[in-house]
Amino acid sequence: MALGHDGRRISQLMALALPALAWLLWPVRARAWRRIRAATVWTLGMSFVVDGIARAYLTDSYQAAADSGMVIGAVANTSAKESAEYLAMYWRPAVAWATALFVAALLMWHAVARASAVPAPRRAGQVPSMLSRFGVGVLGVALLVSAAGYASKPWRRLHPVVFWAGWSESVQELRHSWSHHEAARELALQRARDADPVIASAAPSTVVLVISESINRDNLGLYGYPRATTPTMRARHHALDAEFVLLKNAWSVDATTLPGLRSLMLMDNAQGQPPQHLLALAKAAGYRVWWIGNQDDIAIENLHARFADELHLVNRTPGRGSQSPDTAVLEPLQSAMADPHPHKLVVVHLMGAHPHYRLRFPDKANPFDDYSDGVDQGMQHAGRPGWLRRARDEYDSALLTQDAVMSSLLDMTRKGAASNEYRAWMFVSDHGQEVGHQINHAGHSQMTAAGYRIPAMIWQSAPRDTLPADIDDRPFRADWADMTVARLLDIRWKGYEASRDVLSDAYRWRAPALPAKVESFVK
Ligand SMILES: [Zn+2]
Repeated sequence: MALGHDGRRISQLMALALPALAWLLWPVRARAWRRIRAATVWTLGMSFVVDGIARAYLTDSYQAAADSGMVIGAVANTSAKESAEYLAMYWRPAVAWATALFVAALLMWHAVARASAVPAPRRAGQVPSMLSRFGVGVLGVALLVSAAGYASKPWRRLHPVVFWAGWSESVQELRHSWSHHEAARELALQRARDADPVIASAAPSTVVLVISESINRDNLGLYGYPRATTPTMRARHHALDAEFVLLKNAWSVDATTLPGLRSLMLMDNAQGQPPQHLLALAKAAGYRVWWIGNQDDIAIENLHARFADELHLVNRTPGRGSQSPDTAVLEPLQSAMADPHPHKLVVVHLMGAHPHYRLRFPDKANPFDDYSDGVDQGMQHAGRPGWLRRARDEYDSALLTQDAVMSSLLDMTRKGAASNEYRAWMFVSDHGQEVGHQINHAGHSQMTAAGYRIPAMIWQSAPRDTLPADIDDRPFRADWADMTVARLLDIRWKGYEASRDVLSDAYRWRAPALPAKVESFVK
């Protein structure tokens, strides 16, 4: 258990394992029953051992969690023949872990057999001699903790039997959904080809689209936040001046990740045609597409990332609770930039500032928690509790870390362009975040404007056309970003709608219907 889990998890698992082991203390006289009990306890005990060893093996060999998209994907994708080949190739570590398993099985059997060999007392009601009164008390408390464990769903899910049953279900489901997703992607590509997209300019072009996570623009120094959360991006904005567009009034139309990505990628149109997928359209036009993702999510992978010609998933721990720094995307971006293909679209999907915020910046790198500043005082005046003010400090530190990643991505996009090459970089967040802006809440927020207030910015080596004079002040919605990306890619096709392209003179703002109350979209 200790090899496959860490920290608090080990004690949680011990609590789950306790009832089976404690059962050995129950007085049982009949020999046959004692044997059945021993076999059952051994099997349950071994489920914890097998679980620990399987997880330790995956961490050791792949730095991957058992329920990561990578592992589930690999298993779902593997036939019996491939498994045999795999074992033939990697038999050494497998033998080592199998030996450990065998030794554990022997020890477990020895222990269980010894414990069940103790006969039950002759007279009913007599306490078994191996347990003192004090021992009974301690055991009672431990069993209460265990009961709490079984009552709590996330805790109970750690039980090997529950976990691996769910795991095998995920593998089956994934196998099933793949056939479906693959067909859907094929259909989307066909739809894109039918729209006859072409790249208008012959010059080489590289477009980097950065989609970040849970970033509220109100917390970026770049957008006027009093804390210096974006010192580097402020400097870039200042230095790049006319090449750099900071969309002051940017909004997402969704408050969570999957719908946010969907509306970013799918180009809904006024004609009522089925929506084009941005990546399918870029491919059909002749772009080579990269997806560099720092979120391990089977749905995102299947619905969007797998359109890419080159797929780099740098995070192998599922969910957005994992600690995978966004800097991991820099190396794959470097190699994408070095690729000689004349037309490249690179999508970079970050972890951004997703909760838990303290996972998004290095340990002890929280410069905002030391002293009380205007932000802190403002929150105090608004009656925000201490935990929320601390969450705000952590959120802002996550943004400071993100600032370094953003500027690195921008710098890498700008560096080393050929003299006739066009390059562009666009940054947008999938949705916003409420961290005590309007209510006592930290996290995604469907019902407050903070859940939708996102940053959006564009850099171009040389704008495709003269920028509209009012560009900075135009309200912008993320579900229309695809039309602007299409302009950066210089793709022409019959579904292009200038009225949704914020860089176009024909742009016409229409406010989205949000579940949250928004006083003004230009504030
Ligand atoms: Zn999100």
